[in-house]
Amino acid sequence: MYVSKRNDLDYQFYEKNMDKSPKHLRLMGQLKQGMRNQEFELHFQPKISLSDGRASGVEALIRWNHPKHGMLMPDSFIPLAEKMKLINDVTDWVLIKALQQFKQWRALGIHAPIAINVPASSFQDRDFLKKIRTALDAAEISADSIELEITENTLMSNIEQCTEVLKKLSRLGIGIAIDDFGTGYSSLAYLKRLPIDHLKIDRSFVQDMDRDDNDAAIVRSVIDLGHNLGIKVIAEGVERVDSLAILKELGCDAAQGYHIGHPMPAAQVDDWLKLAAAAH
Ligand code: C2E
Ligand code: CA
Ligand code: CA
Repeated sequence: MYVSKRNDLDYQFYEKNMDKSPKHLRLMGQLKQGMRNQEFELHFQPKISLSDGRASGVEALIRWNHPKHGMLMPDSFIPLAEKMKLINDVTDWVLIKALQQFKQWRALGIHAPIAINVPASSFQDRDFLKKIRTALDAAEISADSIELEITENTLMSNIEQCTEVLKKLSRLGIGIAIDDFGTGYSSLAYLKRLPIDHLKIDRSFVQDMDRDDNDAAIVRSVIDLGHNLGIKVIAEGVERVDSLAILKELGCDAAQGYHIGHPMPAAQVDDWLKLAAAAH
């Protein structure tokens, strides 16, 4: 049924290899319990502003500390959470947890705006805006301290609803970033009309841009496109110093990647952010 739905077919004959692996099925069963048992945690990856090298914020990235399988990465369970309709619960948890963390950093004198990944289903969640507003109020955090990352594919798969919600979020003062930019099919007309603060160039173009002229050309084009529309551009997946140098030369606004800092548990980010601040 899922295969037919996914491929927009009226029917699909069963084939043995369509069965999910036993591990996959077991994980689906354990997800709800994992949430109850607080097995999830957030890691944070720093971003830097390329004009001055300062830390400009962090992206919250979820991990599942599974009692048997160890640390699981989001690609192995976010799709399951989506299938099981648990994804909104996951997003609610990430939002609350990220804001708690922002407050803790603030108490230490660290200002670190947090970017949160928002899946397509949040735009169908009627309470989404209310949840965000309530969470911000409860934590006494101003809206411009968070940014929501929505993938280009999510945006284009439901452009009407996304446009409406994004405009409301933006009016609240929340930042909007288009994630994985360049991998989907954006209509430039929509980019112009939407309240977008950042384009995040997909890491598949950035990773080897110091060695591949075509990748570098794509990165340069996205930076120009963003800037011509008044949108700032972030390069993700910066793995080498050479790429960082080229990005600076191209006038890219911000960068994120293993060369700058890996995703880390909050306690490690404290130190990273303090060191980064001390370096200036
Ligand atoms: P994303 O939003 O594109 O996040 C960036 C991913 O790239 C992260 O993988 C990060 O660890 C990885 N990365 C960062 N720098 C580099 C680099 O220099 N080189 C390479 N090769 N990779 C780099 P991660 O944490 O495994 O997350 C994968 C995806 O899972 C994310 O992609 C995002 O779509 C999703 N995700 C993560 N956290 C959440 C969440 O809280 N909610 C939802 N709905 N999705 C999430
Ligand atoms: Ca992201
Ligand atoms: Ca991305």
